This record gives sequence, C-alpha cells and structure tokens, in this order.
Amino acid sequence: MKNGQIIADLHTHNHHSFDSEMHPDDCFSTAVEAGVDIIAVTNHFDIDGVLDGIYAGYDVETDKSEVLRGQKEYSGRLRIIWGIELGQPTHRQREALEFLERHDFDYVLLSLHNLRDVPDFSFWDYSKMTDEMCEYWLDKYFSQILDMLDFPRCDALAHLTYPYRYMKQAGRKVDFGRFRDKIAAIYEKLIARGAALEVNTSGYRQGMGAPMPDERFLALYRECGGELTVVGSDAHRRNDIGAGIEQAYGLLRRLGYRHTYVPARGGFEPLPL
Ligand SMILES: [Zn+2]
Ligand SMILES: [Zn+2]
Repeated sequence: MKNGQIIADLHTHNHHSFDSEMHPDDCFSTAVEAGVDIIAVTNHFDIDGVLDGIYAGYDVETDKSEVLRGQKEYSGRLRIIWGIELGQPTHRQREALEFLERHDFDYVLLSLHNLRDVPDFSFWDYSKMTDEMCEYWLDKYFSQILDMLDFPRCDALAHLTYPYRYMKQAGRKVDFGRFRDKIAAIYEKLIARGAALEVNTSGYRQGMGAPMPDERFLALYRECGGELTVVGSDAHRRNDIGAGIEQAYGLLRRLGYRHTYVPARGGFEPLPL
C-alpha cells in the first residue's frame, strides 16, 4: 500500500524464467518491502521456443510449489497469484492447450515475443534496418497478435508494442498512425472475450520513457470501450519489483480510468485508482 493505494504488480519473473536469476523468496520479501500488496508470478513459457530446443524447459511443478509455499508464508501480507506468461500459444496450439489442461494457473498472460519461425524481437539488430522495415515487421506483429487472440485461454495480453521497445532503443522512428485500425481490432477482440489489456511498466525503465502500450494506445483502448486493464512491472530482478506501477496508475487516472483490475476467482476484481 502506498499513499492509501493498493499496489498490484501482475507480471514478475523468477529463476524459473530463462532470463532471470531471482529466487522467489527474494521476490516476495522485496515486494513486501516495496509496498506491493498483490503480486503475480508469471514465468516464461515460450512454447515454440521450448519445444524447438531454443529455451530450456520450464519446471512448472517446482515453480508452483514455491508459489504455494510463498502463499502460506506471506499470508495476510502479500497476495501471491500463480500465473504464467505463455508465449506464442498459437504457434503450437495443441501442445499449449494440453499444457494448460495439466496445470491450473490462476492467471494466463499471453505474449508474442517472436513471429512464426523467426527469432525473438529482442535479438534483432534494428540499427541496420530502415524505419520502413520496422513498420513492415510491426505490421506482421500486430496481425499475429490478432490471430493469437483466438486462442481459447487468454486472461490478459502482455506488453502490446513489444518490438517497438527495441526499435526505439536503436533510434528507429515508427509511424503508428497506419496501425491504428489494427490495434483497434485487437482491442475489440480483447473486449469481446473479456480479456484484459496489460500496461507493462518495463518501458519506463528500458528506453521508452512510457509503458507498453503507451499513452496514445491506452487512450485508444478507452475510446474502443476498453476498461479492463492490468498493470505489471515485468521485473526479472529485485530492484524492478513494483517499479513504475504507481506511475502507470497515475497515467490511467489521467486518461479517465477509474479502476484497474486484479485476477480473482477466475475473473477480475476492480482496484480503485
Ligand atoms: Zn514478455
Ligand atoms: Zn515478462
């Protein structure tokens, strides 16, 4: 709790993600110290990358047991939600559905880190691309997000505009006007199925100076009738737990949102802003 505001960080990684070394105990204790009231553990499972041998396997059982232990130990101090950041589920739809049937996640965050048969957007060298090439790939990215939203389970869509984070770091300029209709179509699909739009605050600290998606696309979401937002830091290390959450709440408030949301009992409960 900070200044009377409940803080929910709904996107965090720990040592069960290939790109984090944080121990869950450190994550939970830091969350309490940082004034976080609710946290979702959402480790990576990029299903095509794992099945193709690009990433190591995901030890889902140990992850769950550590979350259950944390829930007991931190009861009354920190609400811990067991979630997953499921990457590219429609690239391996059958396996992704079987995986979700086997494991009872409270919260499923869908991500698109890579296009079909192409490396993760974070691995590309955008300094060698023109702005037009970046727009070409962004167009494909938004199209595949639209397809991905037909996947049967989606509680929230993670970090929309993810490739742009790296493009901007490399100094590329993108005309987003041409993507407005496609992004509006993504929002319509999210709204129709009752899934949330994530406001990912890692952009604040990773060269964008704004969350993903940024202010103009959060305004567009509202214009499209969107109300269901979830906010997460995407922390991979202790210092980033809870980072930017209050800033994102402030931005949502300025844009006219009265609530953000927290996964609860198979749906969402509102968190007043
Ligand atoms: Zn991600
Ligand atoms: Zn993440």
